[in-house]
Amino acid sequence: MSFLQVKNVGKSYGQVKVLKDISIDIEKGEFICLLGPSGCGKSTLLRIIAGLEDKHGGKIIINDKDMTNSPPESRNFGIVFQSYALFPNMNVYKNIAFGLENKNISKSNIDKKVKEVLEVVELSGYEKKYPSQLSGGQQQRVSIARSLIYRPAILLADEPTGNLDRKNSEEIVDLLNLSNKRFNQTILLITHDEKIALEANRIVTMEDGVIVSEKVVKK
Ligand code: ADP
Ligand code: MG
Repeated sequence: MSFLQVKNVGKSYGQVKVLKDISIDIEKGEFICLLGPSGCGKSTLLRIIAGLEDKHGGKIIINDKDMTNSPPESRNFGIVFQSYALFPNMNVYKNIAFGLENKNISKSNIDKKVKEVLEVVELSGYEKKYPSQLSGGQQQRVSIARSLIYRPAILLADEPTGNLDRKNSEEIVDLLNLSNKRFNQTILLITHDEKIALEANRIVTMEDGVIVSEKVVKK
C-alpha cells in the first residue's frame, strides 16, 4: 500500500474538465515531480491533494484511510508556493517559529528545531534578518524551512522556483533533495521546467488534465 493514493481524481470548472481521471501513488520518502505546461492542471491537483478544493471526483487515500472529505489540517501536509508568503513584519526566526509558538513546545525545543532547519536551508546566522533584507532565493529557503519544521507527511511545493533564476532554482531543488535524504522527507514538487524535474526520483508528466507519462529518474 502506498502512503498517498490519488485515485481517479477529476475536476471541472463549469463545463471545462481540467483534470480527467488522475491516479498517482506516492511512497513514503519519495521525491516525486509533477511536470507539465502552464494550465495543464498541476496546481488544481495539488490543491485537491492538500484538501483545498472541496468538489472533485475520485479519492485521496492517506495511509490506507479515505481522506477525500477531510479538512487540510487533518492531512498534515506542508505547502510551499511560488510566492514566498512570508510575514514581512517578522524576522526569519519568527517566520519559522511562528506556528510552533502556540503549540506548547518549550522555547529551547523551538530554538533547536529552528536551528536545525536553518542549517538544512543554509541560512544559519540569518535569524534576525527581515524578508525585505533577503534575496528571492533566500526568502524561498525561509519558506521551505517554515514548512520543514513541522516534518509534514508530504511537502507540496508548487513551482517553488517559478520566480527565481537558474542558479537560485538549482539551489532550491538541491535543498529539497537534501531534506528528502536527511529527514526522509516525502516531497511532491510541481514544475513546468524539465531541468528542475530531473532532480526528483520520479517524474509524472501531465498534459491537458491527464497523465501522459511516468519516468523513474534515479533510485
Ligand atoms: P497549472 O498549475 O498546471 O498551470 P491550474 O491547475 O492552475 O494549471 O489550472 C488548470 C486549468 O484550470 C486552467 O485552464 C485554469 O484556467 C483553470 N482554473 C484553475 N482554477 C480555476 C478556477 N478557480 N476557476 C476556473 N478555472 C480555473
Ligand atoms: Mg500552477
